[in-house]
Amino acid sequence: MPRRRLSESQIKRIRKIQERRRGRLDARAQIALSDDTETSAREGLVVVRHGANLAVEDQSNRVFHCLSRQNIGHPVCGDRVVWQPTGSQQGVVTALIDRRTVLSRPDYSGREKPLAANLSQLVVLLAPAPEPSEYLVDQYLVAAELMGIKAIIAFNKADLLDTDSLKGNRERFSRYEDIGYPCVWISTKDGLGLVTLSEKLAGETSILVGQSGVGKSSLVMALLPDRHIQIGRLSKATGLGRHTTSAATCYRLPGGGHLIDSPGVRSFRLGAIGFSELQMGFRELAPLVGQCRFADCRHDREPGCAVKQAVIEGQIHPERLARFQHLAHGSRT
Ligand code: GDP
Ligand code: ZN
Repeated sequence: MPRRRLSESQIKRIRKIQERRRGRLDARAQIALSDDTETSAREGLVVVRHGANLAVEDQSNRVFHCLSRQNIGHPVCGDRVVWQPTGSQQGVVTALIDRRTVLSRPDYSGREKPLAANLSQLVVLLAPAPEPSEYLVDQYLVAAELMGIKAIIAFNKADLLDTDSLKGNRERFSRYEDIGYPCVWISTKDGLGLVTLSEKLAGETSILVGQSGVGKSSLVMALLPDRHIQIGRLSKATGLGRHTTSAATCYRLPGGGHLIDSPGVRSFRLGAIGFSELQMGFRELAPLVGQCRFADCRHDREPGCAVKQAVIEGQIHPERLARFQHLAHGSRT
């Protein structure tokens, strides 16, 4: 039987099929190559954690649903991680990158449990009502100092203050500015000061803390007009559902920087700390530690106390020292 001769079009078709196969092979070789840990490992940011599920954002702001390898520790919101893709929107976290800072709170057994990582700034929110408490402010500031992060004070509902009370409050809180904590006067209602505040948030990873009713929810909404879009994007990418909003979430701010928000993070408080830590938490007092006559000076009634001397000389405000003493009486050691 004579061999059938292939028509011109059949030859073309066969060539095409082979090309396609080669193409596929090439793609497979690429995948095999990239399966190598070195080439597929990427850095990412944990934007939500819900149990074992993580939403990880890559450097081009795409979100992947990741699970974490056991034995690498417990990634939390704000953690930088090494991860590898395992699907178009999935991946596995293989390593935790060292945390620069960590915000934690004791769990039911008293062990410190991380809530958020790599924060760089605490924003203490105050308002004319509920009545501001410097005692609470100082506790937040101590927490910030001990975490090694910046702190700023934002005084909200400035629209409720007349000229005189605005002046009075400015004077009252200027003491904090004197020791290096900026104060911003804002109103989420009429937008006053929000540009100034956004400038202070740019490039930082901040959290917002303060008493109930000072306007934290209102401020989060004002700072993140696209919050629901970001939440939708996270839940769509991860399939985790909208309940993840109860977990700490790391939002991207339109003016740059991140805001980590969740009810647990907002209501965090200074835990029990020892006397020496407390001294480090008062930034104008910390440099004087070790300069008193007695090594174990409590800066109370001891002679030759460098801290008392600094109060006399006006470097430490007497009310800050009084609140330090009050906290010291409640401290462990
Ligand atoms: P949160 O408990 O700290 O989250 O406070 P909310 O955001 O729920 O606000 C508490 C109340 O203060 C609400 O009734 C808000 O409408 C009101 N509020 C928030 N910001 C402002 C503001 O800038 N000016 C005024 N006048 N009221 C505000
Ligand atoms: Zn002393």
